[in-house]
Amino acid sequence: MNRAYVALGSNIGDKAGHLAAAIDALRHLPTTRAIRPSSVYETAPVGYTDQDLFYNMVIELETDLPAEQLLDVLQQIEQQEGRKRLFKNGPRTLDLDILLYNSEMIHMDGLTVPHPRMQDRAFVLAPLDELVSSYIVPGLNRTVAELYQDLPETERTDVRRIESGSIEGRREKKNDRI
Ligand code: ADP
Ligand code: MG
Repeated sequence: MNRAYVALGSNIGDKAGHLAAAIDALRHLPTTRAIRPSSVYETAPVGYTDQDLFYNMVIELETDLPAEQLLDVLQQIEQQEGRKRLFKNGPRTLDLDILLYNSEMIHMDGLTVPHPRMQDRAFVLAPLDELVSSYIVPGLNRTVAELYQDLPETERTDVRRIESGSIEGRREKKNDRI
């Protein structure tokens, strides 16, 4: 059994629906043992700012999959939700990133864990802090709570919790979707 934390983000079309679909797809894998979702947050885009607000959340996943295979599965789910990668930091229907995998440090082609930019991102640390405040991030040797508190206050307030509890089953009308 492995415990992974996965960040979910969406800023095109039925954003809550894309997040819910990703959780649903992961929940139905035979290799998934359990899922615990954070609240959903609405956040301003970082980098390329002329785009819609993001919905972000984090899930705790108990999985039989090794990290590399988990990334493959996440990329398949991104494709199923019609992700088009237009350009770096640009809009996307669904982005799924592995933040943490057990307490391992992984440096492979195409996979770095802990996620190398997680400590800079309030939209990752706010939902992660809900789930595992006292987890010590390998390599940084600080807890999730400390990393979150270290962020400038302006960045922390840019991230607004919009919904607590489950978003599963959330889908807008089919013709509203992308
Ligand atoms: P980003 O998530 O940085 O906005 P992408 O989703 O397009 O950008 O990811 C680009 C590449 O990052 C993926 O092809 C994947 O191989 C690689 N990558 C490296 N480490 C990770 C990780 N921990 N989680 C997800 N993708 C990762
Ligand atoms: Mg990604």
